[in-house]
Amino acid sequence: MKLTLIEKRPTTNDVTAFIFKPENPLTWVAGQFMQYTLPHDNPDDRKTQRYFTISSAPFENNIMVTTRLAPQSSTFKSSLFALPIGGSMEAEGPMGSFTLNAPAQDFIFIAGGIGVTPYRSILLDLDNKNIPIRGKLLYANRDNNFVFKKELEELASKHPDFKILYFMEPEKIDAAAIKQAASDLKTQTFYISGPEPMVQAFEKMIMEMGAPTEHIKRDYFPGYKVI
Ligand SMILES: Cc1cc2nc3c(=O)[nH]c(=O)nc-3n(C[C@H](O)[C@H](O)[C@H](O)COP(=O)(O)OP(=O)(O)OC[C@H]3O[C@@H](n4cnc5c(N)ncnc54)[C@H](O)[C@@H]3O)c2cc1C
Repeated sequence: MKLTLIEKRPTTNDVTAFIFKPENPLTWVAGQFMQYTLPHDNPDDRKTQRYFTISSAPFENNIMVTTRLAPQSSTFKSSLFALPIGGSMEAEGPMGSFTLNAPAQDFIFIAGGIGVTPYRSILLDLDNKNIPIRGKLLYANRDNNFVFKKELEELASKHPDFKILYFMEPEKIDAAAIKQAASDLKTQTFYISGPEPMVQAFEKMIMEMGAPTEHIKRDYFPGYKVI
């Protein structure tokens, strides 16, 4: 499906949200992702395809891709950031199961850096459906530039049972922080999203704390070495 860029929304110093209009109406479940193809001259060895979460909620209708431009960026990212309004790329999907199991249930969301993208979609979706948001977002970032901070804060102020806990380097999300945030390690569902090594480390930690593996959902973002 062809996606046409209609807006570029700088979100923090190095993160931009790209809003694309799909050529036909598209439905997806909050938390899903797509595979995008952006042909460009002289692609590097990582070539012209990437996966990105749809960071917009389904009611927003357009596809939002939110990503970080690294100092030594891939040719794909450079081309995406240089794409003019009206420019297009191809997308396949939506796909993926990093979606909310039970919307009314209490959850723990863990985000590392840009790994916050699926949570924007999921949380705005709940709010739009008038479902009270009950859970905690533990959000780690390397600096104070937390992506979507304003929107997340607005949701927290509307939903008294939704709390956001920020962790800025060198502060880390550790076992004590998770234990304190969780109301019941055995029954709550944990969602972990971020760079692959971070997701694996949290999965191990949460399982060692006693949470059953079937209560842990993961969204890996390969290609990022750090948050
Ligand atoms: C299901 C899924 C959902 C995802 N959702 C998102 C999302 O919402 N947002 C998002 O940003 N990412 C997401 N990702 C990850 C995304 O697909 C990319 O892997 C990631 O953004 C890195 O992009 P990049 O490879 O273009 O590298 P860049 O972001 O350009 O660079 C990443 C790192 O690699 C280094 N680097 C760049 N080029 C090279 C090179 N040629 N050789 C060696 N090192 C290099 C850079 O210095 C930097 O440290 C998702 C992945 C999956 C599988």
